[in-house]
Amino acid sequence: MARVFNWRALKEHRVYSIEEASALLRCAPRTLKRLLYEEGVQVIDDLSPMLVIGADLIPALRGRNTKGKLAPGQMFCLGCKKPAYPDGGVVDDVAKPNQPSLLQALCSNCGAVMSRRVARGEVAAFLKAAQNPQSNVS
Ligand SMILES: [Zn+2]
Repeated sequence: MARVFNWRALKEHRVYSIEEASALLRCAPRTLKRLLYEEGVQVIDDLSPMLVIGADLIPALRGRNTKGKLAPGQMFCLGCKKPAYPDGGVVDDVAKPNQPSLLQALCSNCGAVMSRRVARGEVAAFLKAAQNPQSNVS
C-alpha cells in the first residue's frame, strides 16, 4: 500500500524547498522527489534549491491518501491495483454456507480474478450495480 503522508503539515500558500517539505512530511528528500515525479507535480527546478508550491503538492498528497472507496458493484483488482467492474457483470459466489458472500469475478480491464466480501442481504444490490456500471456514475 502506498505510504500515507501528513499533507496537513504543509501550507497551501507557501513555497517549500525539497528539504523543508520532506522534513515536514517526515520522509527522505529522495522519496519526496520520486513522489513529485510519479504524481506529476510541477516543481520550480531552474533555481537551486528545487522548490515546490504547497498548493501543487497538497492535492497530489491528498489524492494518494484516499484509498479509492469502491463504488457499488465494483471490486478491487490486484492486477490493475485499482477498483474495477466485473467483466460482463458476471459474478460467482464462492462462499461456504452461513458465511458472508465471497464474490469473485474477472477484471474488465486486465482479466485478473477479483474478489469481494458482501453481506448476504446486499448481494442483489451489488449484482444490479455490477451489471449496469454506467448507472452508478454520478
Ligand atoms: Zn485488473
